Amino acid sequence: MVSSLSQSQEGLQEKDAQKLERIRHTCAHIMAMAVQKLFPGTKVAIGPVTDTGFYYDFDCPVSITTDDLGKIETQMRRIIKANLPIIREEVEREEIKQEIAALNEPYKLEILGRIPDQEIISRYFIGSPDAGNRESSLLTADDIDSTKFNQADSSWWDLCAGPHVNSTREINKKAFALLSVAGAYWQGDETKPMLQRIYGTAWETPEELQAFLKQREEALKRDHRKLGQQLDLFSIQEDAGGGLVFWHPKGATIRYIIEEYWRKSHIESGYKLLYTPHIANLDLWKTSGHYDFYNENMFDSMEVEKQAYQIKPMNCPFHVLTYKNKLHSYRELPLRWAELGTVYRYERSGALHGLMRVRGFTQDDAHIFCLPNQIADEILGVLNLTEQILSDFGFNNYEINLSTRPSKSVGTDEVWELATAALKEALDSKGWNYIIDEGGGAFYGPKIDIKIQDAIGRLWQCSTIQVDFNLPERFDMQYVAADDTKQRPIMIHRAIFGSIERFFGILIENYAGDFPLWLAPVQCRLLPVSDEVREYAESVAKELHKEGLRVEVDGSGERLGKQIRNAELEKIPVVAVVGKREMENQNLSVRTRKAGDIGTLSINETVTHLQSAIALNSTI
Ligand code: ZN
Repeated sequence: MVSSLSQSQEGLQEKDAQKLERIRHTCAHIMAMAVQKLFPGTKVAIGPVTDTGFYYDFDCPVSITTDDLGKIETQMRRIIKANLPIIREEVEREEIKQEIAALNEPYKLEILGRIPDQEIISRYFIGSPDAGNRESSLLTADDIDSTKFNQADSSWWDLCAGPHVNSTREINKKAFALLSVAGAYWQGDETKPMLQRIYGTAWETPEELQAFLKQREEALKRDHRKLGQQLDLFSIQEDAGGGLVFWHPKGATIRYIIEEYWRKSHIESGYKLLYTPHIANLDLWKTSGHYDFYNENMFDSMEVEKQAYQIKPMNCPFHVLTYKNKLHSYRELPLRWAELGTVYRYERSGALHGLMRVRGFTQDDAHIFCLPNQIADEILGVLNLTEQILSDFGFNNYEINLSTRPSKSVGTDEVWELATAALKEALDSKGWNYIIDEGGGAFYGPKIDIKIQDAIGRLWQCSTIQVDFNLPERFDMQYVAADDTKQRPIMIHRAIFGSIERFFGILIENYAGDFPLWLAPVQCRLLPVSDEVREYAESVAKELHKEGLRVEVDGSGERLGKQIRNAELEKIPVVAVVGKREMENQNLSVRTRKAGDIGTLSINETVTHLQSAIALNSTI
């Protein structure tokens, strides 16, 4: 049932990835060249590749809209068709600085200034460097109708480390597309100018592009921000500030179910629950090291009775303090302590994104304190629990990374080797494939990261398991060993969902809002065809409610057809029509979202039908 994604084609993927990177990088340049030709006076800022394509930020004298994208694409095709060579050139810093200044490209000048200690700078030309300077080669918007792109007269360049393809013809003119245009602050800083960012995608073949566009369309349909609004699940209230989530009754119902499930499965797996405060004396964060190493993600501290207090960005130090409240014997270990701990982290407003990137979120956090020889068993226990929980939420395919010791790290060779071997042993005994990220671990210990694959094949980083040699040292944690000496316990941090908010966003997109019955906020809605039968409907709702079902009566007074349509729009899994005949026969006409009409059922039969779907964790 559960499988980890294969790594056998890793080498091949690596090669493809490099080729795609060259294509996308080149496409970004071609787009910038096209934009500058179509919109004279446009300044270029930055144009990196992304996971699926590229973007470029422009400071354009006119506002570029989605209607312009086709025009830019046409211009790009013309540049591709002209088969202009792409030529790398190395120039001395001072020389290129003067050229950029002469072109009046202030953002490029800033970018050049940020390239550290390097006298020789590389740039990439589209078209021959001898084709004259950029100003003379600019085509105006009127030239768009000219069918020929004058090769001898066309060149454009950008500061760039590469890599690129060798000529514009290597870009398949049917395998790229411009997708959208959006505002973006220069350097993501809201005090700096707002630029226009154009997003594009590029692939090797038209088939790959079409597959991507189809996937993107599906993803847009599933966008959790859109469905969150449509299904009335949550909101982000700008009046309260960015990145703070408001859970509406239906979203809160799902959260309640998730949290109850989470607590139950943790308690069954030998965890104890903790609750800890949301703020603490700033000194605690100095001891933990967060004050020095995590400061840019922390909100400013506040003053209480002349002492600085910090709102927590992490739960870990609180669990450590709880541990240190008394001296522990080796006989008590392992201790597994779990908390749904709400943390607050500073994110730039430009980086915020729905439920995926927020400023306040609840981690499904836990810490395990154990003996060195217990690590492998404990990690295996975490992997088993992770598999159980993720598969219950419908995720059965994972990509797993094991990250090992980086060059800068704390802890002895011996303890690193022991812990890394324990992580491998646990993964091997699960029989899971994993990718080793050499040197990719945190400075304080090795870790396992698990990405889950959703219904449309996207991967989301969720679960993480990290061994920590640092915090026990910083907080001088101890246990009394069998020989009565005092020793350091091993600390393991782990989260399965990562954050409840983000996981909820992933769930919404994975199910496209069609939650399986056990998660659906309203499992069944009763639709009274007239006021006459309303009382009967209410009494049925009470009975179903007593059986533990989430049920409500449509109180809108609308015609039946409208009631059915509303329930469909709200993706309510089961509706039961209540008319005069149903009232007389004490039954219900039941329709499910998936199967349509399933006929007339007694109240008891309805309960059994719903409860069996809940038990099977399925849609209905
Ligand atoms: Zn932690």
